[in-house]
Amino acid sequence: MIEFLTVIFQIAVLYLLADLTGGLFHWAEDTLGSADSPIWGRIFVQPNEIHHERPGDMIKIHWLKNNIPILSFTAFVLLVALAFDAVTWQLLVFAVFAGANQQVHRFAHAPRARLPGFIKWAQRKGIMQDARHHWVHHTDPHTSHYCVLTPWLNPVLDRVGFWRGMERLCVPIFGAPRRPDLKDRSWYRE
Ligand SMILES: [Zn+2]
Ligand SMILES: [Zn+2]
Repeated sequence: MIEFLTVIFQIAVLYLLADLTGGLFHWAEDTLGSADSPIWGRIFVQPNEIHHERPGDMIKIHWLKNNIPILSFTAFVLLVALAFDAVTWQLLVFAVFAGANQQVHRFAHAPRARLPGFIKWAQRKGIMQDARHHWVHHTDPHTSHYCVLTPWLNPVLDRVGFWRGMERLCVPIFGAPRRPDLKDRSWYRE
């Protein structure tokens, strides 16, 4: 019994860890560099800027096109782990959860009437983030609710100032030309 509970606990932690990883990536996409930055700008910043300007467009494109970048990245990490003989069940579970970030985000932008019953159920039970929770991120000043998988981490991370800490740490190194709200900080860098 104890062993079973330990596995359930680990799965719950991995789910939250996947949410945090997605949130960190999303925060970096929203904050660091610009659409002109080499590689990073074209692959991540540009689509993200379009999503912020026209959030509804996301569900107009095919779900696979929407998911390919994150699924390719997840597959790449798994292949590296395989090459180093470092694949564990925990890594596989984490990869499935992390890889689901974009699809869960997409569900939060889809009209509720078009969602499958079990997704609506998962959103109602707080297993997946719903549209109302995610919409806070799409509301001015767009600097909170970076996690898209669950509704559990955002309130905590926002309250403790986690993202403001990340900005203090990373902006002086990488620059954040798209964040004029940070311009008055002594450590701000274009
Ligand atoms: Zn965003
Ligand atoms: Zn969104």
